[in-house]
Amino acid sequence: MNLDLTTPVSALGRVGKTTASRLKKLNLEIAADLIFYYPFRWQDFSQISEIAKLQPAEAITVKGKIQLIRNRRSPVKRRILTEGLITDQTGSVKVIWFNQPFLTKILKPGDEVYLSGKVDFDRYTLQLINPVYEKVKTEATIHTARLVPIYSLTSNLTQKQLRFLIKTVLPLSQKIPDWLPKNLVTKFKLIGLNQALAEIHFPSSHKLLNEAARRLKFDELFLFELQVILTRVEVNLSQAWPIKFFEKETKNFVADLAFTLTNDQKKAAWQILSDLQKNQPMNRLLEGEVGSGKTVVAAMAILNVALSGKQSVLMAPTEILARQHYQSLVKLLQNLKVKTALLTRSQRLIDNEAVSKNNILKQLKSGEIAIAIGTHALIQDEVEFKNLALAVVDEQHRFGVNQRKNLKQQSGQFNYIPHLLSMTATPIPRSLALALYGDLDLSIIKEMPKERKKIITKIVDACDRTKAYDFISDQIKIGRQVFVICPLIDPSDKLGVKAATEEYDKLKKEIFPNLNIALLHGKLKAEAKEKIMAGFLAKESDILVATSVVEVGVDVPNASVMLIEGADRFGLSQLHQFRGRVGRSIYQSYCLLFTDNQGQKTKARLQALVAAKDGFELAELDLKFRGPGEIYGTAQSGYPEFKIAQLTDSEIIKEAKEAAEIIIKESPDLKNYPILKNKMEGFIKTIHLE
Ligand code: ADP
Ligand code: MG
Repeated sequence: MNLDLTTPVSALGRVGKTTASRLKKLNLEIAADLIFYYPFRWQDFSQISEIAKLQPAEAITVKGKIQLIRNRRSPVKRRILTEGLITDQTGSVKVIWFNQPFLTKILKPGDEVYLSGKVDFDRYTLQLINPVYEKVKTEATIHTARLVPIYSLTSNLTQKQLRFLIKTVLPLSQKIPDWLPKNLVTKFKLIGLNQALAEIHFPSSHKLLNEAARRLKFDELFLFELQVILTRVEVNLSQAWPIKFFEKETKNFVADLAFTLTNDQKKAAWQILSDLQKNQPMNRLLEGEVGSGKTVVAAMAILNVALSGKQSVLMAPTEILARQHYQSLVKLLQNLKVKTALLTRSQRLIDNEAVSKNNILKQLKSGEIAIAIGTHALIQDEVEFKNLALAVVDEQHRFGVNQRKNLKQQSGQFNYIPHLLSMTATPIPRSLALALYGDLDLSIIKEMPKERKKIITKIVDACDRTKAYDFISDQIKIGRQVFVICPLIDPSDKLGVKAATEEYDKLKKEIFPNLNIALLHGKLKAEAKEKIMAGFLAKESDILVATSVVEVGVDVPNASVMLIEGADRFGLSQLHQFRGRVGRSIYQSYCLLFTDNQGQKTKARLQALVAAKDGFELAELDLKFRGPGEIYGTAQSGYPEFKIAQLTDSEIIKEAKEAAEIIIKESPDLKNYPILKNKMEGFIKTIHLE
């Protein structure tokens, strides 16, 4: 059969329906997907050892002849053992496989094989237990006697299967044109794309593996940087309405607050109000951890825009969050006497009164509504504004230039775009933010409001689990509520269905049969999620079980306990974010960290969470601790997502940025680089920015 990059995996040899559907769970649908599915580590079995020189606990490969192989029932655990003896010129060694009786059909006495695995010491003699085997042939090995790729898998797929499939399609990578301009390849001493793809899967040496990894990381970061620059160029070519600073009114607003602003809040507000005065569109990121008071800062910007007779929108990722923002803003800006609207899929309000959607659309277009708060419903085609001067987006990493342009103006001036204020609770260290985004305008609120009660964080030992459950039950008795977060254990469980459902069943059936427990995971439709969150907020359930893939960014002031299962599986910043979901009111709140991992390193890492003074410190620690083995990566943390590049690759980040600048300078629209242009267009579809 003629293979092509777009050949479906189901058309490959040895792939039946079941295997195809398992591959699909990993998003592996066509040959090209396999080529770009990089290993996450490589096991070094490249040393071929003489049998006479084997040492216990070594990871080695031996090459020899099978003298004898047979199955036997183990008396102890009633499992089937396959025993063999393998010999090379220097000696022989015993081999044992457990529960693989079919091996005697594949491996016969006299066969020459490679066996890769760990040497074990069994009372008197050395032996190999469950080694990977591969017959000696003329072509190169793929499972043994080399640097062997290890892929992240779903249950039921095996490393051998995936290696075999990738080996089959890998020659097709020759058909993929190298999208990196030649001058960059030379300048940054990179290897070619085809070679990099071949070496990343089946490295011929450590050196080439490193070069392949460097090249592929460079690619990802380069494309990312290119996108960052293109976005900036586009913003710089546009204009925005300059917003006057209403000093007296702003001072009155601050004086009327029930609290005093922290210095960081004042500083951030000042930076934003200065940006707004320019006719160049603001592009500012406001970082401040959960509860640091970002909303009131945004309100100050909205206040000034409204006083200028212009419109603002505030966009939230979920309906409940939009509603909460609406309520806070209506309250904060009650003296302003302008119309404020809420527009989500299921709810439409103007000044707290239900209205029709058409009514809102009409008044947005006429400019009667000064402030609109909502979800993505606000950037649909039918929505038009009279003079939108400011867009505030809360925790939405998907809001880019295109969305911004989608906010339609009635002004007739097409290059007008609103000032943009993005808010995030992810503490991206400044050095990293600058490295990634260049001269990004960044305001940081580090200081937390003073009155806040400190959340008590405890690492709970396995033996104290019951005590912890008793504690939870006491908290619920006095009227509080509890979050339970579970980690993804199985990579195929991308939406957290399995992880959350198992935990939910356990709590419901075994631990708290008398309590109301709700379940939230990524497979539920947005509507269902909203309903469950709203129910929790309304105290219809006592415990909410959720996975990390679910947005729990809702303010539930009554919740006082955040219990995190498998805490060692999360980044510190992420844990910190979860913890920030409690302690939002007068009640003393608690964060309980459960972990099965008893290692010293894990303990030390989690201990940092108990001790840390803010999220930024934790983010820095995360960068330091994050090893290459971390497969769950940065997915939920608000950082850009990369397949192979890591945020610690600071040297490559620097080079990639320089490279992107070179290219844009020479060919701002990439016209000179058609292959790269093509690649970028595909890339924009897969990565989101801002
Ligand atoms: P976040 O940054 O997570 O969006 P919010 O803006 O929702 O935080 O603020 C959390 C709570 O803290 C709100 O109830 C808000 O009124 C209150 N708050 C904001 N600033 C201060 C302050 N300086 N002092 C005391 N409370 C504050
Ligand atoms: Mg907020």
